[in-house]
Amino acid sequence: MNIQNYINGVYRLPLSNDYIDNYNPANGIVYGKTPNSNTEDVAIAFEAANSAFKSWSKTTLEERSRILIKISELLEANLERFAKAESIDNGKPLSLATSIDIPRAASNFRFFGNAITQFASESHESVGLNAVNFTLRQPLGVVGCISPWNLPLYLFTWKIAPAIAAGNCVIAKPSEVTPMTAYLLGEICTKAGLPKGVLNIVHGLGTTTGQAIVEHPNIKAISFTGGTATGAHIARVAAPMFKKLSLELGGKNPNIIFADCDYDTMLETTVRSSFANQGQICLCGSRIFVEEKIYEKFKKDFVQKVKQLKVGHPLDVSTNIGALVSKPHLEKVASYIKIAEDEGGRILCGGIEVTVKGFENGYYLQPTVIEVQNNSCSINQEEVFGPVVTIMPFTTDKEALRLANDIKYGLSATLWTNNLNRTMQFSQTLQTGIVWVNTWMLRDLRTPFGGAKESGVGREGGFEALRFFTEPKNICIKY
Ligand code: NDP
Repeated sequence: MNIQNYINGVYRLPLSNDYIDNYNPANGIVYGKTPNSNTEDVAIAFEAANSAFKSWSKTTLEERSRILIKISELLEANLERFAKAESIDNGKPLSLATSIDIPRAASNFRFFGNAITQFASESHESVGLNAVNFTLRQPLGVVGCISPWNLPLYLFTWKIAPAIAAGNCVIAKPSEVTPMTAYLLGEICTKAGLPKGVLNIVHGLGTTTGQAIVEHPNIKAISFTGGTATGAHIARVAAPMFKKLSLELGGKNPNIIFADCDYDTMLETTVRSSFANQGQICLCGSRIFVEEKIYEKFKKDFVQKVKQLKVGHPLDVSTNIGALVSKPHLEKVASYIKIAEDEGGRILCGGIEVTVKGFENGYYLQPTVIEVQNNSCSINQEEVFGPVVTIMPFTTDKEALRLANDIKYGLSATLWTNNLNRTMQFSQTLQTGIVWVNTWMLRDLRTPFGGAKESGVGREGGFEALRFFTEPKNICIKY
């Protein structure tokens, strides 16, 4: 299926007349073409967004809310179609797209449709000075949203929904590796009555289309989710133009397991936090540190459970692990396994590519567990973003904390313990934006989301996202 841009409320071919192949990761076959939009395409998207801004920014909160919630309802009504499209485009199991990706995309619209009606600003009385201050929170104008391939519609809408709820008009680019559900979203927005030009979706490579969005002098803010190196590049391009930036970047998250935890829940959740979505979630716990007392037991039980995971075609209902997103990504992940072995890591299970009968050219890899001796090896320090985790023992709380923090990333951490003092000490000391205790990826959309260190700048989620997409202006009235 060939994809088009969605600009000013209609689908249109790119002015660039340039296209990229879209691969199905389950079988390695090209099944469509995606526009590789250029500066001119971004320019017409900007004109559409800029024209729509005047009226959209003055649209009542109730009306914006009504439209966002309508989009959410239409996504829910089209769950099967969207989930299948996501699974085919990305390689993720259909069951995951049906239970997580698309429902969450719908929740994003519903949540921000409701949140905008509750978003308020502050006022400050200057006592003794006969003055009162209040803060206006005004939309920024036209903003850019750029998202990655791992949770395509989920992360795309996580940015778009708060941006438009706050009264901005948007130019959005999904990853060129997974453009399909973003393409289908245009149709839903039109049906929901979103005025033309409020959301414009341009497809293409990061280095052409993404770069054109970031370089556009009148796009006021960029909300970006993707790799740390790309984030640094975007920051360099955007900073001299003083654009507002929100950067959600890579992670290499610790999963710290103490002997006093609820073992069975921990074990089951750790399998999920290691391998959900083929390990291609920025929040996956890819460095597993286990208290020495239970290390050997954990190693045996964990490896046994991981070996039971079924690698298969994404549309097969019995599949636990689908295909990796692309051939270059599969090759990158496989190369890290080799490096880990070269640096002394011991492969406990997996480590090899899998051939799925009938789909021999698909990008399948066995879930892989590697035992490592220290935290300084490449496999523990660099983001692999695939179905690969490492395990190593620790003896004291101090050592566990040191290992967890000894990394340039700081997105999330998971802690398994029933000790309250330890929970508080780790919560205060872990250098991450999120700490999950006795759970993983339990998300409440009101909470601030984002990373510390090289995992990002700024927070999205809840009112934080609405703050990002608005400019506060202080009004001081002397009476
Ligand atoms: P990339 O950084 O390669 O790409 C992310 C997006 O940016 C894509 O749409 C990409 O386009 C685009 N892009 C690439 N180069 C530029 C550029 N010069 N200017 C503007 N846009 C550009 O990341 P991946 O898509 O490979 O996604 C995986 C990464 O995302 C991992 O590092 C992961 O940790 C991170 N991530 C972070 C999350 C978080 O919340 N912190 C959540 C999910 C993922 P294209 O793909 O079309 O080239």
